[in-house]
Amino acid sequence: METYGVCAICGKSGKMFTCSLCGRSVCVNDYVAGVCRQCLAGKK
Ligand SMILES: [Zn+2]
Ligand SMILES: [Zn+2]
Repeated sequence: METYGVCAICGKSGKMFTCSLCGRSVCVNDYVAGVCRQCLAGKK
């Protein structure tokens, strides 16, 4: 799912993707394999 908004991680505006785990909107740079960088880092 693509939307336009402000990244919840880095604060940049532009095309956003929705993390499938936490539901936050994040930019392409913070979106990895369907989840945001933060969820990826905190994955157990
Ligand atoms: Zn970002
Ligand atoms: Zn997330």
